[in-house]
Amino acid sequence: MPLRTLYVDLNSFFASVEQQLNPALRGKPVAVVPMITDTTSVIAASYPAKRFGIKTGTRVGDARRMCPGLILVCGGHGKYIEFHHRVVEAAATVLPVQSVHSIDEFSCRLLGVEREPARAAALAREMKRAIASRVGECLTCSIGIAGNRLLAKMASDMQKPDGLVVLEGDGPPSALRGLTLRDISGVGPKMERRLNRAGVYTMEHLLSLDEGRMREAWGSVVGAWYWRALRGEEVGERATVRRSIGHQHVLSPERRTPERARAVLVRLLDKAAARARHVGCWARRLTVSIRYTRDKPDGATAREGWRASDWSASATFPECHDTTTLVQEMARLWEARPQGGTILMVGVTLSDLSNGLGSTRPLFDDAQRRERLARAVDRINEVAGRAAIYPASMHEARTSAPARIAFSNIPDLDMPHVKESAARDDARARDRNGGGNGGAR
Ligand SMILES: [Mg+2]
Repeated sequence: MPLRTLYVDLNSFFASVEQQLNPALRGKPVAVVPMITDTTSVIAASYPAKRFGIKTGTRVGDARRMCPGLILVCGGHGKYIEFHHRVVEAAATVLPVQSVHSIDEFSCRLLGVEREPARAAALAREMKRAIASRVGECLTCSIGIAGNRLLAKMASDMQKPDGLVVLEGDGPPSALRGLTLRDISGVGPKMERRLNRAGVYTMEHLLSLDEGRMREAWGSVVGAWYWRALRGEEVGERATVRRSIGHQHVLSPERRTPERARAVLVRLLDKAAARARHVGCWARRLTVSIRYTRDKPDGATAREGWRASDWSASATFPECHDTTTLVQEMARLWEARPQGGTILMVGVTLSDLSNGLGSTRPLFDDAQRRERLARAVDRINEVAGRAAIYPASMHEARTSAPARIAFSNIPDLDMPHVKESAARDDARARDRNGGGNGGAR
C-alpha cells in the first residue's frame, strides 16, 4: 500500500493559539469559551485542562468544578483564522497543501519518493519544525500518514499531542484493532446503532467482514467504500454536491482600471457567496482570475506576438460562505496580482464545496455576526428583488452586471487554474523528486 496522504491535525488549536499569544497561559489548564458565563460550553481545552477530563462541549460550570484553577479565555475567530493561514503557509514550505478540511486540519498528497515510509516520516518531522519555527512553538500537531485520507486522518488521532503515526502494510492496519467503531471518521451515533443492529460491535469484527457483508451492514454502497478505504486503497472522496460556483466578467473599455476591476470582483464574489448560502454550500477555496491585455501597440495582431495573458491565484480556508470574510480573502489575492498591463476580464470561483455537514459552524461572536449579517442581507435583497444592499467596495460596479443571473449551470472559467489533472500530479512528482539529484528541496 503506497503512502499517499499526509494528514495534519493541530493539537488543541484554539487553546494553543491563546498560549502562543500569551506566555502566561503556557503549561496551564486553559479553556477557550465563546463568552465568560457558566451556561456556555468549552470550545477547546489545553492538554493540562484535558487531564482534568475537560473537553470540547463540557459546560463551563462543570469544567470549573472539575478543575478549580481553570483559566477561561474568551476566543476570537479572527486571530484563529490568521494563525490558520500562517500554519498552512509554514506547512507549504515543506509540502504543497492539497486540501484544508477545517480550521485545524489539512492534508498533503505524497508523490514519488515521498511515499517511502522513512522519507514520509522525515517530511512530517520537517513540517512540525517549520510550523514551530515560523508560527510558534505552542502550535504542535499530530500527523498521520497512510494510503488514503481516511486512514491518514485516523492515524493523526492515534497519538496526541505532537504525534506521528505511519500506517503501512497491506490489508487493514493492525493499529486499527484497538479502536472503536466511532473512531472511524464518518461513523456517528446513528451509523453505530445501524452497525450494532447488523451484529457488529467492535472494530475487530468490522474488519473481519468481507466487502459484501460490509455493504449489508451499512445498508448501502458506502459500506463497500469503507471496506476499501480501511484497507488503504485509493478511493475517491465521497462526493460533494457540486464542484464550483464561479462568475466572470469582461470589463467594458471605460472600466479597465484597477479600482473598477476590483469593484467588479467584489460584486462577482458577493453573487457567488449569496449563491453558496442559497444552496447551502460552504467553500474552502477561492480563486481569483485576471486576464490582462498587454499594452497592445496600435494595429498589432496576435500574429505579431501580442497576446492576452492570464493570471490566477487561490486561497484555502476553513468552510466559509459569508461575503465579509471572502472579500478579505480576495483582497489578499488581489494585492498579489501582477502589476502593469490592462485588466480585460476578472473572475472568481468558489470551490472545494461541501454541504456543511462536517463543517465547523461559526462559534465566535465575530464569525456569528458575519453569518447573521450575510443572512440578513440575503433576506432584504430577496424581498427587494435586487441588490438593494451590497458591500461598499462594489459600489463602483453595482450596475456592471445584471443583479440576477441564472445559476443553474455554472461555467468553468476559461482559465488555466481549472485544469487539474493527473498530468499535473505527474509533473509535480517529477519536480518534487528533484529530477534525479537526490531530491534536494
Ligand atoms: Mg485538532
